[in-house]
Amino acid sequence: MRLSRYFLPVLKEAPSDAQIASHQLMLRAGMIRQEAAGIYAWLPLGLRVLNRIEQIVREEMDRAGAIELLMPTLQLADLWRESGRYDAYGPEMLRITDRHERELLYGPTNEEMITEIFRGSVKSYKDLPKNLYHVQWKFRDERRPRFGVMRGREFLMKDAYSFDLDADGARKSYNRMFVAYLNLFSRMGLKAVPMRADTGPIGGDLSHEFIVLAETGESAVFCHKDLVEMDAPGPDVDWYGDLQALVDQRTALYAATEEMHDEAAFSAVPEGDRLSARGIEVGHIFSFGTKYSEPMRALVTGPDGKDVPVQMGSYGVGVSRLLGAIIEASHDDAGIIWPESVAPFDVGIINMRQGDAACDAACEAAYKALTAAGKTVLYDDTDARGGAKFATMDLIGLPWQMIIGPKGIAEGVVEIKNRATGERSTASLDSVLAGLI
Ligand code: ATP
Ligand code: MG
Ligand code: MG
Ligand code: MG
Repeated sequence: MRLSRYFLPVLKEAPSDAQIASHQLMLRAGMIRQEAAGIYAWLPLGLRVLNRIEQIVREEMDRAGAIELLMPTLQLADLWRESGRYDAYGPEMLRITDRHERELLYGPTNEEMITEIFRGSVKSYKDLPKNLYHVQWKFRDERRPRFGVMRGREFLMKDAYSFDLDADGARKSYNRMFVAYLNLFSRMGLKAVPMRADTGPIGGDLSHEFIVLAETGESAVFCHKDLVEMDAPGPDVDWYGDLQALVDQRTALYAATEEMHDEAAFSAVPEGDRLSARGIEVGHIFSFGTKYSEPMRALVTGPDGKDVPVQMGSYGVGVSRLLGAIIEASHDDAGIIWPESVAPFDVGIINMRQGDAACDAACEAAYKALTAAGKTVLYDDTDARGGAKFATMDLIGLPWQMIIGPKGIAEGVVEIKNRATGERSTASLDSVLAGLI
């Protein structure tokens, strides 16, 4: 992409109502624009990151055996009356009436709808287990939308729903999502710690939140410090076996959110290992048995010929919130530092003297070679000054910057900078390209 033809409305100053770094940086880097309280337009740079995060989530869901579908954003109120949640949900739910006076709502979550889809076609234990998911916009009329995409009213969520015949199957399904979550957050460069959590309006008794530690996080959390550095299991696990041992490893040490915090149990952790911190909830998994299948009559016939309500769980990831969480975890005074896995472009090329034939030719050659090798490139071919180009590249946080200027070209070299370490080195164009490709 040539910057001269792109749409990257960067701001010099952060708007004064943006209180935390990630919100300020997303606005300054021209990634989002607020259209109403808690409702954002995703500008091109922001959308590229959103799409990459969504894709990582999708790949890890697929790997764990979940199947993607897409449910609508609008749902019938009557469906929610079946579970009893229509009145219980309160003012967070956006209620809508159509021209026929039919009551609708903009989905804040999809337990009811997926249960309705399931009961319409699955009748036998032979069709289980199943895990169905989608990535879809949600609306919650939050009392205090704030911190940009971190607490929006309209936000993108991945929500998966598992169906099993019995409690043992449901436990295995829960564990598969638990392990998939460890992997997907780790692929985004995040250290997300699973913590025992309250189930809130979703219901049920078994639940973990995945928490990224950050001073600006809205939740108070308590855990053993070793959990923060524990590596993710990686893709090579027995997805269809029993993942209990892996889950046990991550749940043996103390970790709880404020609502589930037990001061007595926490004080049993050696003092030097206790971490009480703030965190961002980036994912939340629940196992809630028959809470929806029973009132909504989602029954399956078991091997003994008897009909039983199916055992369910649900598993959410805050896809749009993750942009904020990643930036909170990875930025400096100059701007964002994207992990390579989610960066909007792999490489930025800075032409220090646009219009100089030798500089232009070297930049074009680099742009072509990188693009041909499958790299995504943002080429700053504008006639802005060098200093302004550096500032923009640092702000938008691409992992690599190639700096091509007349002095270097005369000596047969270009410069390469690593955004994360700040390390710069100089070498011939060919060897810099070879290092990137
Ligand atoms: P919170 O405690 O932050 O209000 P929640 O517990 O109400 O979140 P869940 O119902 O567990 O949210 O939804 C699953 C995931 O969706 C959350 O873990 C979070 O990452 C994301 N999420 C929830 N509300 C919002 C929001 N208003 N804006 C952005 N992401 C959100
Ligand atoms: Mg909430
Ligand atoms: Mg919560
Ligand atoms: Mg939650």
